[in-house]
Amino acid sequence: MSHLMKYFLSFSCRCGKPKKRAFALCRPCFLFLPHSLRPYLYQAFGYGFEQAYEHAAEYLKKNGKWSHLVE
Ligand SMILES: [Zn+2]
Repeated sequence: MSHLMKYFLSFSCRCGKPKKRAFALCRPCFLFLPHSLRPYLYQAFGYGFEQAYEHAAEYLKKNGKWSHLVE
């Protein structure tokens, strides 16, 4: 199973907060994203979700939301 699939199926967001299963992010993280990035996270696996998640993760790291994940 890919890392991405694990995050997707888990009950916790990478920020540490709980989230719903089969959701990419918890609600606060999702709402933190710019509107332009949000719709892409609803795409299916293999149909753009992976790229959308990477973009979202990059944005969240850059803007301090996931700063603990930045090496
Ligand atoms: Zn989160």
